[in-house]
Amino acid sequence: MAVFVLDKNKKPLMPCSEKRARLLLSRNRAVVHLMYPFTIRLKDRVGGDIQEVHLKLDPGAKTTGVALGLKSDMQLKALFLAHLEHRGFAISEALTQRRAFRRRRRNQLWYRPARFDNRTRKTGWLAPSIQHRVDSTLCWVKKLSKICSVAEIGLERVRFDTQKLSNPEISGVEYQQGTLLGYEVKEYLLYKHNHTCAYCSGASKDVRLEVEHVIPKSKGGTDSVKNLVTTCRSCNEAKGSLLLLDWKTSLKKSTLDLARAKGIASVLKGKWRGFRDTAAVNTTRNALLAEVLTFAKGDIAVYTGTGAMTKFNRHKQGIPKDHALDALCVGENLSLVLHWKKPILKIKCTGRGAYKRTRLDKYGFPRGYLMRQKAVNGFQTGDMVKAIVTKGKKQGTYLGRVAVRASGSFNIQGGNGLVQGIGHKYCNLIQRNSGYGFNLTKIALTNGDARKVA
Ligand SMILES: [Zn+2]
Repeated sequence: MAVFVLDKNKKPLMPCSEKRARLLLSRNRAVVHLMYPFTIRLKDRVGGDIQEVHLKLDPGAKTTGVALGLKSDMQLKALFLAHLEHRGFAISEALTQRRAFRRRRRNQLWYRPARFDNRTRKTGWLAPSIQHRVDSTLCWVKKLSKICSVAEIGLERVRFDTQKLSNPEISGVEYQQGTLLGYEVKEYLLYKHNHTCAYCSGASKDVRLEVEHVIPKSKGGTDSVKNLVTTCRSCNEAKGSLLLLDWKTSLKKSTLDLARAKGIASVLKGKWRGFRDTAAVNTTRNALLAEVLTFAKGDIAVYTGTGAMTKFNRHKQGIPKDHALDALCVGENLSLVLHWKKPILKIKCTGRGAYKRTRLDKYGFPRGYLMRQKAVNGFQTGDMVKAIVTKGKKQGTYLGRVAVRASGSFNIQGGNGLVQGIGHKYCNLIQRNSGYGFNLTKIALTNGDARKVA
């Protein structure tokens, strides 16, 4: 992983290698500015050459892939890869519980008159868990722009390009598997048939999905999107080069064939999801794009890509499926350079505290007593600490996110799981709580199968 470098005035310079960072630090030419992501600040430099760095995002429901790449000619060299793990259902659960607490307290004040119900939602309101995804992703766009000079931001916005498919000039063109248009078509077909076989709807238990011509090519069928469906390989082979009606009459009374007859009828009727309710209306991604555009203000170029384009780039270059690598593949067709041996950064959204002042037992009654102050012996829950324990059963070195206890005996959540009962005097502060926990995680970088697909 590249190390981020700032100049004397905290302005970003180009990231350097880990070795160079080590040398700069040991020669006292630099100081550590930030531990996660690792950033150093040069003591004797102001300004320097800046190259074009792309920040790429692959927004997901649970994990967002984040990648920084250095662009030169038509190549993109990976500088930084990260997984941003969102909080997901934790938010709605916490809010539901908080609502219950407040309801109970309010009910104790039953004699008070009801408050006037004048609460409204702003336009553009999103559910808190969705808003969180937008906010935390944007937060990291901002954080990374502070330590690295980002020239362009690319993000995946839709699964496939509806305009490309409905454009008569292109949809008339014969599509070929393995081309970018082929990937757009396949993504659309998968969406259209809900990732199952259009004929048997999965009754054959065959998971291999293929693109099938409804009217076979040998009988004058075209490559137009209208003539294509996804089927499992069993159905594709069973149908062969028959016309749909001929195949339907040849079907028997087995469960599989009955399912097929049903599927054939709906294919003949042309019943499926249209373009309008496609993934293009993905609220999270649209909201994120709007926020990123506001942040960029025209100084940073922003571009979007389709999921099909990402898949095309990934398959063509034999890159395995991973959120961070997917992010690197977003957008235009660049050849990627991956000199990657080290694990990547896993950023976990944790929030800064709880939504409640007490914990409950399984019957919903208050349990125990939570302390009211947040800091214990100078530490707060969420701080990143390194503990070197020299005595007792817990001897060893622990690195991770601390959870403080009033007793001064802390828990540390590290890469190797949770360690309990580490004394505060062994702990050294590495970074204050920022609402994120950090870990390193390994990802697969080679994939033999991927090359065959392209
Ligand atoms: Zn099938």
